[in-house]
Amino acid sequence: MTKIAMKTPLVEMDGDEMTRILWKLIREKLILPYVDLKTEYYDLGLVHRNETDDQVTIDAAEATKKYGVAVKCATITPNDARMKEYNLKRMYKSPNGTIRAILDGTVFRAPILVKGIEPYVSNWKKPITLARHAYGDVYRDVEFRVPGPGTAKLVFTGEDGTTSEKTIYEFKGPGVIEGMHNRDDSIESFARSCFEYALSVKEDLWFSSKDTISKIYDARFRDVFQNLYDTEYKAKMDAVGTTYFYTLIDDAVARVIRSEGGFVWALKNYDGDVMSDMMATAFGSLAMMTSILVSPKGYYEYEAAHGTVQRHYYKYLKGEKTSTNPVATIFAWTGALRKRGELDGYADLVTFADKLEKATLCTIESGKMTGDLKAITKLPDAEKLDTEEFIDAIGENLAVQMAE
Ligand code: NAP
Ligand code: MG
Repeated sequence: MTKIAMKTPLVEMDGDEMTRILWKLIREKLILPYVDLKTEYYDLGLVHRNETDDQVTIDAAEATKKYGVAVKCATITPNDARMKEYNLKRMYKSPNGTIRAILDGTVFRAPILVKGIEPYVSNWKKPITLARHAYGDVYRDVEFRVPGPGTAKLVFTGEDGTTSEKTIYEFKGPGVIEGMHNRDDSIESFARSCFEYALSVKEDLWFSSKDTISKIYDARFRDVFQNLYDTEYKAKMDAVGTTYFYTLIDDAVARVIRSEGGFVWALKNYDGDVMSDMMATAFGSLAMMTSILVSPKGYYEYEAAHGTVQRHYYKYLKGEKTSTNPVATIFAWTGALRKRGELDGYADLVTFADKLEKATLCTIESGKMTGDLKAITKLPDAEKLDTEEFIDAIGENLAVQMAE
């Protein structure tokens, strides 16, 4: 059998611990038998990040700008314990943070739906993808404790020395104040990434904020989205039969719960922080959630939303069997291969991605799954497989799909 060809390489970012083990298995057992895989490989494992003073992370992000599509394995974000464990030269920043800063991207979290693992909200039939703005607001605030009576003011001094000010509050006793900000360029990048992503998956885009209360701050977000839609994206969305929709955050929450799913929900930083944990839990499992970084220029990086599954890795190191769920990591690969195929016009690569996803979901629907899914499935005769057995079972289904 001739293998499926690729034109442009994927940027491949390897990672840490149990997900690094999954990475190798997925590559060797599910992809290499069928695809003449072309990648530019970057080892973002903590050992190599330390050897390169984290330069490898920067190089990988730059390569993503060059080629446009990357697939990334979960990586350790160092803390005090990791400093000792890996004898690190310094406490490197989160690779995801570094890559996001270079690509100026927005993270989209998309659940993987499969029969047998039902969302808690029974009317959700299609995935709801959540986009969180990753800059500013309360995450970059300045705040202090007001000791007693006095006047709190908001003052802005322009470069030319002119000032504008507003009184926040005349305190009669102690209290608290907080100042926060956002930037037009950051809001616009965010909005643009959201429109690009929604277009790429041909889904509606929702944005919600509290502009009835925050008549200048939240209204700015609303206006940036609306303006981009009116001037650039309406025509493109009309062409694929989708639309943009703005509503108040509280109305959006009620509508999301009543909906069937199948749209992208964009949120400000804090709203996205809160809602993403709610959505991940409501859809069933963190191990069934993918994470896609999209830059306003249309660069894509695919990964699993979960971490390196450290606890399983220590079991693995002791020679014990683990039952670690590879589904989100498989879907990171399929997402990247599909996008690469679409951009290069290589239809076979797109078909392969579809078949690998189908084989993965069929395996779970046939009752074969990892322990985390067995614990929550509604299927009556579910069987718990270990990591490698599960990947092999997917491999068998994939062989059937590929023979068709
Ligand atoms: P984690 O790796 O997401 O795992 C937390 C727990 O969730 C696991 O112990 C496991 O529960 C369950 N779990 C997560 N993914 C699973 C999977 N694929 N299959 C089965 N069970 C799964 O989070 P963590 O242990 O807090 O973090 C470990 C490392 O990951 C940290 O160093 C952190 O910095 C890093 N991290 C990286 C990323 C990223 O690169 N995107 C994201 C988050 C965290 P049980 O133990 O109960 O089975
Ligand atoms: Mg959070």
